[in-house]
Amino acid sequence: MGEKYDVAVVGAGPAGYHAAIRAAQLGLSTLCIDQWLDDQGVLQPGGTCLNVGCIPSKALLDASHKYQQAQSEFSTIGIKAKSVAMDIAQMQKHKRSVVASLTQGVSSLLKSNGVAVMAGHATLGADKQLTVSSDSGSPVVIQAENIILAPGSRPIEIDACQRDDQCIVDSTGALAFDEVPRRLGIIGAGVIGLELGSVWSRLGSEVVLLEAMDAFLPGADSQVAKEALKQYKRQGLDIRLGAKVVGSQNEDGEVVISYEDAEGLQTETFDRVVVAVGRRPQTTDLLEDASGISLDERGFIKVDEHCQTGIPGVFAVGDAVRGAMLAHKGMEEGVMVAERIKGKKPQVNYDTVPMVIYTHPEIAWVGKTEDDLSKEGTEFKAGVFPMAASGRGMASQETVGLVKVIADAVSDRVLGVHMIGAHASELIAEAVIAMEFGASAEDIGLTMFAHPTLSEGLHEAALAVSGHAIHIANRKRR
Ligand code: FAD
Ligand code: AMP
Repeated sequence: MGEKYDVAVVGAGPAGYHAAIRAAQLGLSTLCIDQWLDDQGVLQPGGTCLNVGCIPSKALLDASHKYQQAQSEFSTIGIKAKSVAMDIAQMQKHKRSVVASLTQGVSSLLKSNGVAVMAGHATLGADKQLTVSSDSGSPVVIQAENIILAPGSRPIEIDACQRDDQCIVDSTGALAFDEVPRRLGIIGAGVIGLELGSVWSRLGSEVVLLEAMDAFLPGADSQVAKEALKQYKRQGLDIRLGAKVVGSQNEDGEVVISYEDAEGLQTETFDRVVVAVGRRPQTTDLLEDASGISLDERGFIKVDEHCQTGIPGVFAVGDAVRGAMLAHKGMEEGVMVAERIKGKKPQVNYDTVPMVIYTHPEIAWVGKTEDDLSKEGTEFKAGVFPMAASGRGMASQETVGLVKVIADAVSDRVLGVHMIGAHASELIAEAVIAMEFGASAEDIGLTMFAHPTLSEGLHEAALAVSGHAIHIANRKRR
């Protein structure tokens, strides 16, 4: 029988390690269990996000963006970059070193906060019995007053195109290519497909994205999605909508993909294919039937708004539960649960989860779209600022995109902010704070923004809600 803890956390991804650290900060004896080992058998905390998700993808997105700028944009601003060359091995080495620093950082944080860490696979049985199995001995039974399940997610696989880890890979494989594919097929034009497609396209691949749906980025503001599609196409991404992949065949190191579109059955040949059709919760090998934990029809652990499962003392957070499959959403849930275990009463505000796509231009939004509001019958006003009118945008060659502020027609309260443009991933934080504080568009308009900055775009869009933006031609006097 293992030691007894106040809290045992399964999973050291962003949701799990935040829960564990906050629980330990609050004085609860805490154990964090994870099964992610490196080639030497050493535990790699950080989950998908640090190891094969947010961080490595951003390392490659940033590197490939700089390469592309050096190649084709520097000359306009008077920088002659002779013989710019790409070194994929070094790019991958840089990516691995960033990942290693961060996973080691999480290990140190867990240790310095007094969290006990255990490597192994956890299974939850009857009466909150948690069993951890590993290669290094017999299974250990953990006793814990409270259990936080944070097992995350894994890529969805499709029968039509099964992963072989050579020619057909998932997002993990696509982050590790050691050479630039000549012709790269990506199944799914969602966030992950677009980010990975951008990386390899900038580095020289001919990229084709096959997307089953007719709509492009249906969750985004439609004006933003339209602008994004235009920009991606301009960059050379061949995005085919209404193209459902139905089969694949490996022929002499190439993959022939069959897909159906409005014109019938089509085929395309690629030397590499990435299956990026979404992620599913990693719950199948975690829960014994006797655990009493219920899953929904898609395999997500059923929880209430405070991440409480149906079993008292058992909570679930992160990608394995309903809501956006994003690291920061899981982090906030992890912290909320730790604090609620300690008797505090925080809530996660699911209305202000920022969504970001780290392509160039970046796309970011928070809150509702115009379509959402029209569907629910809420009257609203919208103000739009085009980044083409931004002084800082012009100075830094970043004039693509727009900022849109949507406010309630009666109360003027901000209901959504949508952006496409450089640094949108950073700028959206201002909108999240405004919404979290219940700001009106007028409040943002009355706030002083540093000049010249891209963030003035948010200021102007908020002013535009009531028609008095300074840098947009207005027809009416208000
Ligand atoms: P995970 O990070 O998946 O961690 C779960 C952990 O639990 C893993 O370490 C796993 O080993 C462990 N585990 C599971 N089951 C068990 C078990 N039974 N016993 C022991 N351990 C177990 N999100 C963003 O917010 N921003 C981004 O830019 C972003 N980019 C992404 C790019 C890619 C390519 C991918 C694939 C994902 C990206 N995401 C991004 C999504 C993000 O990675 C996830 O939302 C986030 O990692 C979820 O955190 P989590 O803690 O719930 O789960
Ligand atoms: P996301 O969920 O944002 O990661 O996006 C995944 C995308 O993959 C969605 O837009 C799906 O419509 C798309 N998708 C799923 N299955 C297929 C398929 N067989 N062929 C093409 N696209 C698909």
